[in-house]
Amino acid sequence: MRIVMKFGGTSVRGDGFRRIHEIVSRHLPENQVVVVVSAIKGVTDELIDAAHRARRGDEREISEFLDRLVDSYMELVEVSLGREHLNEAFGIASKLKRDLERVLFGIMYLGELTPRSLDYVAGYGETFSAKVGAFILSKLGLEAVGLTGKEAGIVTDDTFGDARILLNATRYSARRAIEPLLEAGKVPVVGGFTGATQEGVMTTLGRGGSDYTATALGAALDADQVWLWSDVDGIMTADPRIVPNARTVPELSYREAAELAVVGAKALHPRALEPVWDAGIPVYVRNTFNPNGPYTVIHGKEEVNEKVVKAVSLIREAGIITVYGPSMVGAPGTAAKVLEVVGSTGTNIMMIAQSASESNISIAVRRTSLDKVYSALERELVSRGVLRSVEVEDDVSIVAVVGAGMKGTPGVSAKIFSAVAERGINVIMVAQGGSEMNISFAVKAEDADEAVRAVHDAFRLGEA
Ligand code: ADP
Ligand code: ASP
Ligand code: MG
Repeated sequence: MRIVMKFGGTSVRGDGFRRIHEIVSRHLPENQVVVVVSAIKGVTDELIDAAHRARRGDEREISEFLDRLVDSYMELVEVSLGREHLNEAFGIASKLKRDLERVLFGIMYLGELTPRSLDYVAGYGETFSAKVGAFILSKLGLEAVGLTGKEAGIVTDDTFGDARILLNATRYSARRAIEPLLEAGKVPVVGGFTGATQEGVMTTLGRGGSDYTATALGAALDADQVWLWSDVDGIMTADPRIVPNARTVPELSYREAAELAVVGAKALHPRALEPVWDAGIPVYVRNTFNPNGPYTVIHGKEEVNEKVVKAVSLIREAGIITVYGPSMVGAPGTAAKVLEVVGSTGTNIMMIAQSASESNISIAVRRTSLDKVYSALERELVSRGVLRSVEVEDDVSIVAVVGAGMKGTPGVSAKIFSAVAERGINVIMVAQGGSEMNISFAVKAEDADEAVRAVHDAFRLGEA
């Protein structure tokens, strides 16, 4: 079998590469394994932060940051291998550090941070994980070869920060890069989350993008399975950090899992299932810290309907933009114009709702996109008299309730909203996905956890 295994940010930290070594070795040599790694948890945030600081011009902070970054990777080496190989590993990390340093200083001297340079910096954690990780795995006895997303042949469009993988191009270049390694019995260790445009400019795939790297490589290399190793027992009925009695969902169809992911739930990258869906490659979601524990398999079998609702997920850091305009009443095409303007900013719309009176439309987007959507609407539509006004509500969270069995089962929304109302929570906005597999609603951020628990309890998802 050919298996692509992705190890997330918590799975690579500490003695993570020892565990990775153990897991991967268990499947060799009968299988071919491609490893995809994330940055150490927290490092991507720090890199993004460092890029912004660089723009503000703090030279000392850049140097301190880079030293800390190298230290955190040296710690991985020391925990996994002891002190013996530290010098050699330091050489690898220092070279990466110098490349990154050049870009950060460039940002500093120019005083300008473009989406392109931000992506270069943001993806560097994965490069460190791939190169240093491959070093550790080699010393532990695997023939590991570290590759960046670009070196592995991940080709994307140029939507910096949220690039889409071009599957045909990737199929061609990933095969060229990786097949020979697999045939020689080697283990490619690919940095997730990043790729490059056809011109070779580095891009990132959106937060949590290593999942997407893994499934795209799975499809490109005709893998038999993709395994996503994380720090919880698969995809659960809700985030276990919010709902302590959350349980593993044993099976999800591609469609159900996509509904969960598309709204932006943390468990899976929104586009992660696209590459494997048509090919029917099953995706297993498993726990590195409990490798023999329960897990989830996502596959193409039609959904089994024994549970109407399968999972409740939460997307924090969202915002709602509401546009008002008397001219919208009976003015066909206004909604289309609004969506076009939002679309032109490259923003992903998480939910949309139009009031029955047609006098307003609300759109939920990530909080980070609020400013650009607001200014685009003001500039293109309010100032031209198409809309009366635009209002912004930040600080909301979106709860998404997902399950194929919701389709055609009456009373599901009534049950959701009465459960939420009983806890005194006000629902700001509601949208039902066209697929009827997903009902999403927005609440104030401070009410979000309780709303998730209310729905989880109402459908008794914590019970077998
Ligand atoms: P990784 O780096 O391994 O991809 P992430 O932090 O991106 O890990 O995602 C895993 C985390 O997602 C879990 O620790 C868990 O808290 C959170 N999570 C949110 N919703 C769910 C869910 N429904 N099932 C499983 N985990 C979830
Ligand atoms: N390191 C990236 C992030 O934090 C990608 C990933 O973890 O999948 O978003
Ligand atoms: Mg993730």
